[in-house]
Amino acid sequence: MSELPHFPLIIGGEEVNTSATLEIIDPSTGQVTATAAKAGAAEVDLAVESAQKSFDAGDWSRATAGERTEVLLKIADKVGERLEEIAELELMANGATVRQATGFHIGYVAPHLTHFAELGANYQFEQPMPRASFPSLGQSTVRREPIGVVGAIAPWNFPLLLGLWKMGPALAVGNSVVIKPDERTPLSTLEFARIALECGLPAGVLNVVPGLGAEAGQRLAEHPGVGKIGFTGSTAVGQQIMRSAADNVKGVTLELGGKSPAIVLDDADLDLTVDGLLYGSMLYSGQVCMSMTRALVPASRHDEFVERLIERARTIQVGDTRDWETDMGPLVSRRQQERVLGYIESGKEQGANLVLGGGVPQVDGFEGGFWIEPTIFTGVDNSMRIAREEIFGPVLSVISYQNEAEALQIANDSDYGLASSVWSSDNERALEMAPKIQAGTVWINDAHQINVKVPFGGYKTSGLGRELGPNALDPFTEVKDVYLDLSGRRERRPYDALLSHAD
Ligand code: NAD
Repeated sequence: MSELPHFPLIIGGEEVNTSATLEIIDPSTGQVTATAAKAGAAEVDLAVESAQKSFDAGDWSRATAGERTEVLLKIADKVGERLEEIAELELMANGATVRQATGFHIGYVAPHLTHFAELGANYQFEQPMPRASFPSLGQSTVRREPIGVVGAIAPWNFPLLLGLWKMGPALAVGNSVVIKPDERTPLSTLEFARIALECGLPAGVLNVVPGLGAEAGQRLAEHPGVGKIGFTGSTAVGQQIMRSAADNVKGVTLELGGKSPAIVLDDADLDLTVDGLLYGSMLYSGQVCMSMTRALVPASRHDEFVERLIERARTIQVGDTRDWETDMGPLVSRRQQERVLGYIESGKEQGANLVLGGGVPQVDGFEGGFWIEPTIFTGVDNSMRIAREEIFGPVLSVISYQNEAEALQIANDSDYGLASSVWSSDNERALEMAPKIQAGTVWINDAHQINVKVPFGGYKTSGLGRELGPNALDPFTEVKDVYLDLSGRRERRPYDALLSHAD
């Protein structure tokens, strides 16, 4: 135990240890692989204080956009150089496969940070507005200013990347940040903060305080010194964060759950669609918020489609996350494994047909891991729990439909609205469906396409606001109107609305 790597908190540029520690468990073995210091409310308070101090000192908040961009690009370069090492920190804690972690979880971090840095370099911090001539002559300049201390709360599935979607834009405009990673997966974010310090980010500008949601997370969300919260996680916790933020009316951006539909049209190319749907639903064992968990299939091609889907899904190799040949890893925790098995039971009980998987596979040498087989249900009705609730496991529900109108009705009959997809060999036909789908993303003939230059977020209970895209920095700024009177003379002002003339 004493030889395990240990990761302290990062507060005020210093490594800080606490009496309580978090045990970091490798989901492929169930073994503790590292420990991390555990932040409670007191450490969050300390981190906010140190963030505020750094903000007031101005080394970052009042640096030029060019100076900040230079540091952020240096961090992006360093993360790129150390990709494999940081990917291993992700594998150790969240069970991604090496292919997923290098290609996606950590592979996206450097290019995404580069995007935020470039947005910062070109950001319009001051914008002169058209001159006003009524009620008197004046000129406004709109300023975009950093908010101050920004709080970020990230989930375990893409810990560093989803944390970066808040840290990156917040830092690019000069805020100081306190981030609370999930208690199971803080390692990559702690390492990122160490790299940031090495690359010249001033002490206190980025503070990392992993701890329990109900303690550290709650304190950060309600902290009166925090001006904005960026959150990714479940809808239930997102609602709680909105309530916590309400007391001092802080802004919130919420990226929450999903139950995304894939509408397969009767002219879809089945080779492409089968692979696309499995990629869309089983990537990272289905623990992706935008997973296509509901496949809506025309009754006329249902049997052919299901047969091909099962045949292809059987080729998915579950196993050692560090083996480049492995396709799918475990779930993040024993609790999550039990939860997913519970959903599989509910699918059977509610009358869906289990046509593939549904159990715990035997993975030689990794008996302690939290495995679930790739699982497919057919005969699913959209009212069943497996079609309505977010399972967050490798479970795909196939729902049959008679016509396009019914497909759209089923697709939109959900509390969620994060992502969706349409599969067709006729682009025009597929494009006509896009405006009718209630979701923040409609992929046509694809899945999981995250482009940092395009806004991402959800309709309905899938979220509030958007991350990424050309306006990614705006939610991390305050808007200020600086008005300069150009009329000069007192008699040209509208003051007579209140005051009588002095003469
Ligand atoms: P979660 O909501 O349980 O936890 C997310 C984070 O919130 C963790 O850091 C947790 O410690 C913290 N937290 C928990 N309770 C809190 C509280 N009362 N106050 C403040 N913080 C608190 O979610 P999870 O199970 O870790 O992640 C899975 C969920 O995240 C899924 O619902 C998934 O769809 C969603 N997700 C959404 C997106 C997206 O972009 N929309 C991306 C990834 C994951």
